Amino acid sequence: MKYCKKCHILYSDAAAACPKCGAFEPEKQSGGEKPEKGRVVRDWLWIVIGVPVLIGVVYALIKLLNSIG
Ligand SMILES: [Zn+2]
Repeated sequence: MKYCKKCHILYSDAAAACPKCGAFEPEKQSGGEKPEKGRVVRDWLWIVIGVPVLIGVVYALIKLLNSIG
């Protein structure tokens, strides 16, 4: 849908201009909103590395506590 700022109405994308006043609204294509693939992979890498490390640390702590106690 397109929006006419003059009439404050929504009209069809197929219409080149506002059916009410005839004002032409140029289509603005918002670019750069695509999610960065590299960033997503990096986030996953942190999870993949972070989770086993965290489990390892917890496991080591439990073992340490058991050896003391
Ligand atoms: Zn209009």
